[in-house]
Amino acid sequence: MSQSSPILLACPHCHRMNRIPSARLRDAPNCGHCQQPLFAGQPFDLDAASFDAHAQRGDLPLLVDFWAPWCGPCRAMAPGYAQAAGVLEPEAQLAKVDTEAQPQLGARFGIRSIPTLILFLHGRELARHSGAMPAAAIVQWARQHLPLLPDA
Ligand code: ZN
Repeated sequence: MSQSSPILLACPHCHRMNRIPSARLRDAPNCGHCQQPLFAGQPFDLDAASFDAHAQRGDLPLLVDFWAPWCGPCRAMAPGYAQAAGVLEPEAQLAKVDTEAQPQLGARFGIRSIPTLILFLHGRELARHSGAMPAAAIVQWARQHLPLLPDA
């Protein structure tokens, strides 16, 4: 098995693509463009412009929390979702989409209730869950659907 089959992933800060040997994913890699950590241990915000770099071009599964500021259950889930990011990285990237600020993304994925979690890989939807969950349940649900990391 190759020690360094490269993984393509978009930076959560500048959204440019990075090629990282999969064996180095757990070594806290930095972005080759903006030098910030590729895994910050907390969810990052996506908009219509940055969404596809992560959801389609990247090789890592992308978990997205579709939420809105006026949604009480969404706000209640936010700390648990942040905790889940600390656990699930670098198996997956965790992002958030504010459906009030980005209504076109909510419409594109047919979001009818929030919070809704969708797990993407290469633009394909692997799993979807509507309704708030605590951190442990988010991690458990995601791992049921995550493909295994190469060389992990
Ligand atoms: Zn960057």
